Amino acid sequence: MNALPATIVAALASVLGDGPVPLHEPHFDGNESRYLFDCVASTYVSSVGAYVDRLEADLAEFTGAKHAVATINGTSALHIALLLAGVQPGDEVLVPALSFVATANAVRYCGATPHFLDSQESTLGLDPAAMRSWLAEISTMKSGECVNQATGRRITAMVPMHAFGHPCDVVGVMEVAAEYGLPVVEDAAESLGSLINGQHTGTFGLLGTLSFNGNKIATTGGGGAILTNDTQLAKRAKHLTTTAKVPHRWEYNHDEVGYNYRMPNINAALGCAQLEQIDSFIASKRRLYDIYLEALRQVNGVTLFSEPRGSRSNYWLQTLILDKDKVDQRDEVLETLNDNGLMARPAWTLLSSLKPFLGCPSAPLTGARLLEQRIINVPSSAGLA
Ligand SMILES: *Cc1c(COP(=O)(O)O)cnc(C)c1O
Repeated sequence: MNALPATIVAALASVLGDGPVPLHEPHFDGNESRYLFDCVASTYVSSVGAYVDRLEADLAEFTGAKHAVATINGTSALHIALLLAGVQPGDEVLVPALSFVATANAVRYCGATPHFLDSQESTLGLDPAAMRSWLAEISTMKSGECVNQATGRRITAMVPMHAFGHPCDVVGVMEVAAEYGLPVVEDAAESLGSLINGQHTGTFGLLGTLSFNGNKIATTGGGGAILTNDTQLAKRAKHLTTTAKVPHRWEYNHDEVGYNYRMPNINAALGCAQLEQIDSFIASKRRLYDIYLEALRQVNGVTLFSEPRGSRSNYWLQTLILDKDKVDQRDEVLETLNDNGLMARPAWTLLSSLKPFLGCPSAPLTGARLLEQRIINVPSSAGLA
C-alpha cells in the first residue's frame, strides 16, 4: 500500500467509504419543491415572475454587489459583461489559460480573441507579477489604449477567474489592469460565497459573473448572474439580456439587437431556495476540507490545496496538488480513484491547447502547464461532511 495511487485511495475511502461517490451533486434540503410548485400553480414558469426579482435582490444582498442581473447561464453572463466592459470585434481580451472553456468562448462571442495568461500555484489563478512583465514586454500604449505590438490589436479587458472556488489575487490583478487602463470582468462562476479580505469575489472588477449550473455550489438547474456596482451598467445588462425591449404595456419595440438571455422564473425559484442554504453549503464544504486534510496528513507526494492567505474559499471543488516529481503518476491516480468509485478529474486542458484557440496569443504558461499536470479534483458535494 505504499504506491501513491493506492495510498490516496485509502485516505479518501477512509472519509467517503466505498463508492460510487460523484464529484459533485446538488443538495435540495430546503424550499426547492415548495417554490417550484408555487411557480407551476401560479403559471409563472417562464420569462417574468417574482422569483427572478427576488433572486436578484437576494444575490445583491449576499454578495454585497449593488446590482445583480440573473441570466440563462454563466456563459451568457460573461458574454454580456464583456460587451458592457467595451470589448469590440477585433480586440484581444486577457484570460487565464487555466480555466473552463466558457471564459474563452465568451470572448469569441464578442468577435474578440482570447490572449492567454499564466496562473500561479499559490492561488491557482492569474499571476499578477508574470502579467505585469508580459504586458511590459508585448504591449504599447497608443492614444490611451493598450495595443499588442505583435498583432496590432487593442487589448480591452482582463478576466481573472477564481478556480474551484479558491480566490485568485484579484487585488494584484486589478493593479496591473489599472496601469494599462483595462476594465476587469471577474469570472466568479465557481466562487459564490468566496471572499477576499471580507469582500465577495466578483465584486472587485467593473463587472463580475456567477454560474448556477447543476454542478456549482448553488444551482438553478442552469443559470447565471451579472454583478456590478454601476447602476447604468446594471440597467444596460438587464436591457441587453431581455431582447432590448423598450418597456411598454403592449407595444413590441426593441431599440437594438438584444439577447434572449433572461433566467426563467422556475429556475430563479430553485435559486431562491438554494441561496437560503448557501451558508450551510459553505460550512459543510469547509468541514470536508478539514476532514480531508486530516485524512491526507500522512500521505506523502500530494497536498490538499488551502485557501490563499487573506481569503475565504467556498471550497467548491476540493483540489489535490501532486508534488512536482509525481506528475507522471497523475493518470494512474485518476484511474485508481475512478476504479474505486471515487470520482476524480484533472484540471481543464489548457484553453490555449484547445482546437478553437490554437494560434491565439499567449504569454509563457510555465505555471499553468505545471498545474495542469498536478491538479486532481476529488468528491466535494456539500452532503459529504
Ligand atoms: C461554470 C463556469 C462558467 C459558466 O458556466 P455555465 O455552465 O454557462 O453556467 C464560466 N466560467 C467558469 C470558470 C465556470 O466554471
